[in-house]
Amino acid sequence: MNLKLILVLVLIFGVQQLYSQENYKTISKEDSTKTYPGGKPYEVKTFKQKFKAKKPKNVIMMIGDGMGTTAVFAGLTANRGHLFLDNFKHVGFSKTQSSNGYITDSAAGGTALSAGQKTYNGAIGVNTDTVAIKTVLEMAEDKGMATGLVSTSAITHATPASYIAHQGSRGSYEDIAADFLKTDIDVFIGGGYKHFTVRKDKRDLTSELKQKGYLVLRDMDEIAKVKSGKLAGLTSDEHNEVYPKRKMNLPIATQTALNILDQNKKGFFIMIEGSQIDWGGHANNTIYVVNEMLDFDQTIGKALEFAANDGETLIIVTADHETGGMALTGGDMKTGMVKAAFPTGEHTAVMVPVFAYGPGAENFTGIMENTDIAKKIMKLLGF
Ligand code: MG
Ligand code: ZN
Repeated sequence: MNLKLILVLVLIFGVQQLYSQENYKTISKEDSTKTYPGGKPYEVKTFKQKFKAKKPKNVIMMIGDGMGTTAVFAGLTANRGHLFLDNFKHVGFSKTQSSNGYITDSAAGGTALSAGQKTYNGAIGVNTDTVAIKTVLEMAEDKGMATGLVSTSAITHATPASYIAHQGSRGSYEDIAADFLKTDIDVFIGGGYKHFTVRKDKRDLTSELKQKGYLVLRDMDEIAKVKSGKLAGLTSDEHNEVYPKRKMNLPIATQTALNILDQNKKGFFIMIEGSQIDWGGHANNTIYVVNEMLDFDQTIGKALEFAANDGETLIIVTADHETGGMALTGGDMKTGMVKAAFPTGEHTAVMVPVFAYGPGAENFTGIMENTDIAKKIMKLLGF
């Protein structure tokens, strides 16, 4: 190729770049977050539907915070018509209302899913009289099963907190962190390092965790190397960053936790949260919702891989509520483009999907209360 030709090519390419940038600039800042332009799709595998047992030995509870049907379908469109969720043949709906709200928050929603009782907005593992109620994670621990929590928010935030802590108010982060020390949870990975270390009571909970035999790690690459023992992975001071910026990797954190928990012969219970689908909804940002949805779905893929191989693991995927009243006003299954509109920046009241895979999955169909999900899991595990 001669020099002239190269120069001409560089010029054409440069002009094209400029043109596309100009094109982008004509879209207002407001609108640019409403349209997910389409990205590189990932391959969705099909997993077997035959299982070893009738009842599960292990349960993987997966909560997409704020993940309404629209968020799911936005992700499905972005990934060209398929998600790992396609593998879930038993599907139902969950009514999310709290004891004092037609519209729930994530604390009451989380407590309904963890303990099977409707409570007030803001409640963490307590009933309407602010009395502690036992969660499915604590029941699993009582039975000698291994337990875990993984989230892309701070691990002390409402959803994971609802499984392990008992506090009258979701904002009591330091008290929630201290509640982790009252349990024997085997693995937890998420943000919130600050609430374990910078505290009014001057306790350093990370050194207390170490005394209890936990490996306390902050680096995702180091966390990914852990194969056994007790693990406290605190990957950021507060919440982990937005996908794909965050160093915390939800699919890898999930895989790591599952491999550790699987060593317990009595089985395990774990809750894994895609925390930030909700925050994309609050921000009325389609790109944010779709990116978080796809990260969560690929995490579901890791859980499916484990469960299909294991044959005794039940996976439940659901949401605590819908966020933003998200509506799809445009999209393209071929390019993955999705356009959405949002009537609110708050949560909404609509029922949310429930997906089940594995032994016992057939129990999770039809319209149910969010509290029924916890009750069904407890029954299946013999609690
Ligand atoms: Mg949450
Ligand atoms: Zn929210």
